[in-house]
Amino acid sequence: MSSNATLVLFLASSTLQPYEAVEPHMGTLFRIKLYAASEQQAKRAFQAAFSRIAQLDETLSDYRAESELSRVTTVATPVHVSDNLFAVLSKGEWLAEQTDGAFDVTLGPLTHLWRQTRRERRLPSPELLKNALERSGFRKMHLDAAIHSVRFDAPGMQLDVGGIAKGYAADEALAVLTKLGIRSALVAASGDLAFSDAPPGEKGWKIGIDALEHAIPLANAAVSTSGSSEQNFMANGVRYSHIIDPKTGLGLTTNITTSVIAPHGIDADGLATALNVLGPERGLAFIDTLPGVAAIIATGEKVVESASFHRFSR
Ligand code: AMP
Ligand code: MG
Repeated sequence: MSSNATLVLFLASSTLQPYEAVEPHMGTLFRIKLYAASEQQAKRAFQAAFSRIAQLDETLSDYRAESELSRVTTVATPVHVSDNLFAVLSKGEWLAEQTDGAFDVTLGPLTHLWRQTRRERRLPSPELLKNALERSGFRKMHLDAAIHSVRFDAPGMQLDVGGIAKGYAADEALAVLTKLGIRSALVAASGDLAFSDAPPGEKGWKIGIDALEHAIPLANAAVSTSGSSEQNFMANGVRYSHIIDPKTGLGLTTNITTSVIAPHGIDADGLATALNVLGPERGLAFIDTLPGVAAIIATGEKVVESASFHRFSR
């Protein structure tokens, strides 16, 4: 590189300043950190990124009866859906196939039933559970990639993409920032984080993972942490997680926290949720088949890592 080019590069990076903003979306706080050349550029970037997240919340929320996702309850006739919803459902279907249904975006009837359980502090009856299980299951969902459509086999099915939507929204917010010329940014939505280039002059964004004592520098990647101890419900001395075992319809009762590092937020988010259900042994065997993905899992007794995690452990 010529000395002139070096000087230009140095001037460009030395004028970048860090900015940070937080907004509530998707039932949590989204925090964005970025490096921009001016406050004006940063403000424009925050506005565009947060409005992309808000738009995805409107499309993907299963808490809003009027969202596009909530309105897809179609049986028999396939319904055309937006590119955003189709992208999330396709990833959900892929994850379901890869995990033998441990991760499943058709658990809406069950997740809604468990939300009611937490509100009313009463376990669901076997009849209600059976009914919700009959209206769930990714094998009863049919996607058509040619026309971006969805169709269900059973009436009363409901989608819930809460296990991947935040990671996807973080990816999409980063894409908006990149388009606006912001190269170094971090988007964090509680346990789901995604980042573009490292902060100027650094190796990466310094990310803390519960199971590790030291922070790890990451760039152009994503990290998600998912735990069965969040939002749980206690009954008769048993703790039920907000993450559902699709085979039984019950909230998980295992003590487990999973963190996944992947190239994209949608993958890190979905995989971290899936590992809760798969457990350490099956979960890590699966992670080891995925290029560029690493995971660490803490159970009550021990902490275990995928083979690919060693480069972060030190
Ligand atoms: P996360 O916090 O990313 O692990 O996602 C948890 C959310 O994913 C729950 O609140 C549900 O909306 C949804 N969910 C629960 N169980 C499952 C499952 N087995 N597969 C896919 N999504 C699930
Ligand atoms: Mg998740």
